Amino acid sequence: MGRVVRLKHCGVCDRDLPATSEYFQRNRAQCDGLQTRCKVCSHVRTGRPAGRGSSDDIESQIARELGMSRHDVVATLESALLKLRAHPLAHVLFRNLEG
Ligand SMILES: [Zn+2]
Repeated sequence: MGRVVRLKHCGVCDRDLPATSEYFQRNRAQCDGLQTRCKVCSHVRTGRPAGRGSSDDIESQIARELGMSRHDVVATLESALLKLRAHPLAHVLFRNLEG
């Protein structure tokens, strides 16, 4: 109790993570000694400059974090949706999801 964990915002995946070397790679050039992007985002090289995520849709973001291709994410999603829609109670499920 009482141990304050400082959080550091990753501008790439938009998450607040503990500002430790467990989540962020060390970088002496940074004032806090840690990279501005988290380890997950650092490991994946998109070739795009950080912070310009407007062309990144949610599928690409999830694919990157899971180490899948965007195609696989979409294909998995679509096949799961097809299975769900085929279920007799699918209309109830989707009605509930829409609130
Ligand atoms: Zn990140």
